[in-house]
Amino acid sequence: MSVTTDDSVRFEVRAPADGRILDLVREDGPGEVAAAVNRLRKAQPTWAALPIGERIAWLGRFRDWIYANESRLSALLAAETGKPAAEVGIELTSSLGVLRYYSRHAHRFLADGNPRPSSLLTALKRMRVRRVPQEVVGVISPWNFPVAMCLWDAFPALLAGSSVILKPSEHTPLTTNALVQGWAEVGAPQVLAVVNGAAATGTAVVDRVDHVHFTGSTRTGRSIATRAADRLIPYSLELGGNDPALVLADADLDLAASGIVFNGLLNSGQMCVSVERVYVVAEVHDEFVARVLDRVRALRTEGDGFDRDITTLITPDQHDVVRDQVADALSRGAHALIGGEPGEGRHYPPTVLVNVDHSMRVMAEETFGPVLPIMRVANVDEAVRLANDSPYGLSASVWSRDRAAAERVAERLEAGTVDINDAATHILCHPIPQSGWKQSGVGARLGGAHGLQKYTRTQAITANRVDLPLVTALAGFPY
Ligand code: NAD
Repeated sequence: MSVTTDDSVRFEVRAPADGRILDLVREDGPGEVAAAVNRLRKAQPTWAALPIGERIAWLGRFRDWIYANESRLSALLAAETGKPAAEVGIELTSSLGVLRYYSRHAHRFLADGNPRPSSLLTALKRMRVRRVPQEVVGVISPWNFPVAMCLWDAFPALLAGSSVILKPSEHTPLTTNALVQGWAEVGAPQVLAVVNGAAATGTAVVDRVDHVHFTGSTRTGRSIATRAADRLIPYSLELGGNDPALVLADADLDLAASGIVFNGLLNSGQMCVSVERVYVVAEVHDEFVARVLDRVRALRTEGDGFDRDITTLITPDQHDVVRDQVADALSRGAHALIGGEPGEGRHYPPTVLVNVDHSMRVMAEETFGPVLPIMRVANVDEAVRLANDSPYGLSASVWSRDRAAAERVAERLEAGTVDINDAATHILCHPIPQSGWKQSGVGARLGGAHGLQKYTRTQAITANRVDLPLVTALAGFPY
């Protein structure tokens, strides 16, 4: 809900756990966004001109500030997301892991390139490729990992020499705003800013920046891509997913059940790389399901505070999506072995469904809830075919004791990242490029060199080694 005060519109930020109002945040309109981008644009050349070691040092001071303020930031993040303490810890730590990785490798990723000659002409040329940062990068992020989805991209962009404007989700802006205040408190150059609001504020960001990085739903991603295309600015999109897990006949079923329950239900399944569908080869289906149920029954789902294992769903709308998808599956013949009925308020109990198939929304769409639909399949070929029967291609997992066979299955899957005997932990592997295929992303590739280089443009400078106009000379022209 929005409230208009004398000079501004403020929107409520509520705690998902009990719906109480945590804060009223001022909504930034196009004018405020333009002013913030102008300030960032002015500060950027000096930032980019610093030696990379000095930019790393500023980010190091900011990291120290985060450590010094960890308990306050954790409390804020827990309140606005409803996450248990352990999950809050994972989010903050993983964000600093991204900074550590890029601080070590930024020198190399930003270094000039000197391509090898490939012809007589190029042998006679000096060729240098330099990387020039985009001036202002917009980072628009979702509510499920408010800190990680801002910082994982703000850090490489800042190291590359860009200014960054953050637009956190209107549901969870508080920790991001506290972080940007921290950046100012350490006295760092004013190259990091935040603007607040919903779609209109995000649109204003897209309309002003030089590169937009977006993490969120496929629907919003498409509209941002259209707008960015109109301005002819580069964009990178990390979008939705419907990640399959394939449990093969020789899988370690204890390992598979633990990994799939953990990654399917972490943050109540409100994670882009969450396990959303499970395909189990018939001969081990019943044993696997029994092991999953043992683990799900052991989860702490009662009590308030953040000691429970299952997060509250972020909004009433998200609760309705999960409720409707499960109801649709049950009406088409699925069985709920545990859960299956909405809980109170925004709570939804962990739910295990069997007898599912691809006619059901819970298999065909992204659920973003604590639901594990498990489908019996005849063999690995059927598992691969069904896993690929999706408009999404974010990540997938394969569970088998035969690593070579699992890798061959992985190569058949249409997904940007595949984990073997684990799920979703690839997101902590910063050296690998992580990107969504199909409708799960465009040009994003978190991690590795590209995760930083995408915030730069290349400039190639060539010069003749001898003072002759080479092309005309080689072509035999007399002048
Ligand atoms: P969302 O698309 O509704 O919103 C994301 C952000 O975009 C918010 O900050 C929102 O205010 C802003 N926004 C909304 N409309 C906009 C517009 N027209 N122009 C500019 N900005 C706009 O997504 P959400 O509900 O916040 O997040 C959940 C989705 O995010 C899921 O689909 C999930 O899979 C996806 N996600 C993907 C990844 C990934 O790495 N692939 C990671 C996390 C979440």
